[in-house]
Amino acid sequence: MNSRRRFLRKIGVGSLALGLAPNLSKGMSLEKVNKPVVLSTWDFGLKANVAAWEVLAAGGRALDAVEQGVRLTEADPTERSVGYGGRPDRDGKVTLDACIMDENAGIGSVAALEHIKHPISVARAVMEKTPHVMLVGDGALQFAKEQGFPEEDLLTAESEKEWREWLKTAKYEPVVNIENHDTIGMIALDSHGNLSGACTTSGMAFKMHGRVGDSPIIGAGLYVDNEIGAATATGHGEEVIRTVGSHLVVELMRQGYAPQKACEEAVKRIVKFTHNRKKTLDNIQVGFIALNKRGEYGAYCIHGGFNYAKYDAKGNELIVSNSYLKTNG
Ligand code: ASP
Repeated sequence: MNSRRRFLRKIGVGSLALGLAPNLSKGMSLEKVNKPVVLSTWDFGLKANVAAWEVLAAGGRALDAVEQGVRLTEADPTERSVGYGGRPDRDGKVTLDACIMDENAGIGSVAALEHIKHPISVARAVMEKTPHVMLVGDGALQFAKEQGFPEEDLLTAESEKEWREWLKTAKYEPVVNIENHDTIGMIALDSHGNLSGACTTSGMAFKMHGRVGDSPIIGAGLYVDNEIGAATATGHGEEVIRTVGSHLVVELMRQGYAPQKACEEAVKRIVKFTHNRKKTLDNIQVGFIALNKRGEYGAYCIHGGFNYAKYDAKGNELIVSNSYLKTNG
């Protein structure tokens, strides 16, 4: 046996114990891990990353970092697609979706939650304090109140005005990259080498009351496998659910794909399914971001115009994602 083959065999045995064999055998480098690092969707991720980085830089847990990070966006009334100030459904109700996943495959989720500013923290409480993984609607609200979360009116004057304007035509038309929908999805690798993720949104503006998107669905809007990597999604939730998008990205990384390639494959799956269903991509935007156990990252989307924020030792920066179509929306 030549020395290279012997070396690969050694790697194979050692890395199997770590659960990393598929990646290493497909050429993943053995260089130093880039940690801590946090990634989040869209430009509002820049601010959210700062809150997450405070936790990470102090040696904190990725789970705490992602929760603290997205809480910032949830509380910001100028961000009109997440939390307080989010656009309402067609009945004028602000209904929020969120989920969280930790390094131990702990999961918690809330969907169609009203009157609570921080659905991500309610999702975490579902994970940590109940025997369940998902609560919806009134039950989620009841639980949140029992946990001491204050009940608040989340419909700001601006969102109400926009909704009243919308009522004049009452046409449900999500627009690619125009901000009538967006999500903050955040994934992080902490200094201990553990991954976690959080995802929170008010969903598609003027959706049907009761509509739930991908963002609170573990596997669709978010997935974390602490042996492999993490991924999260933004865009048309129906398409992300159809492909169980974030789980797909993580499984592709398990098979040895770099985060960038994994996001590309997942987007191509959505494109294929859309074509199979004889639908057009014109009004469908989906973006994925992914991070692996080594702190390598990537992103991809259908239409141009998607960006994401990355904070690591080199600083906080906004990165424009490559896209399947060269059109910008
Ligand atoms: N994925 C979200 C949803 O479908 C919306 C978005 O991220 O644009 O509710």
